[in-house]
Amino acid sequence: MSDEVLVLNHNYQPLNITSRRRAAVLLFLGKAHLVEGGESPSVVRLNHFVRRPMPILRPTRKAIFTRDGHRCVYCGAAHLPLTIDHVVPRVRGGRDEWDNLVCCCTYCNNKKGDRTPEEAGLLLLAPPRRPKCLPYISYHKFVTALRNPRWQDYLAPYAGSLA
Ligand SMILES: [Zn+2]
Repeated sequence: MSDEVLVLNHNYQPLNITSRRRAAVLLFLGKAHLVEGGESPSVVRLNHFVRRPMPILRPTRKAIFTRDGHRCVYCGAAHLPLTIDHVVPRVRGGRDEWDNLVCCCTYCNNKKGDRTPEEAGLLLLAPPRRPKCLPYISYHKFVTALRNPRWQDYLAPYAGSLA
């Protein structure tokens, strides 16, 4: 982590996480300036605005696990083998969407089968939602980067969940 540098667009929107070496090149070429860190930059900002298309954040297996903190959404277990559960089962028309996919332990998953949580007597600890994030940075990387105290001020406004 300490070898990584957060790159902000000219409008302060986080664009990328790069290596210190790559950031040094941006600074040297005059394409960016230092925002945080001295000898060892931790945040740099581009001198010109870079327009990039907004990618769509897809509910991949890895992204669902990251959103749910690698814990079962029904029992909270983190020590059991985990899988992906469709809250409304696929055979009942449940889709592969953020609000229908959850991280689930194999025990709860077997217990639930092709039923809804209510039918199986299971309670969702939190309703699944599409997370808010900056899709320029991979979701997993973004969640990890949020824990860096030097980056928090820049990334926190983009974290949370969308209703
Ligand atoms: Zn469970």
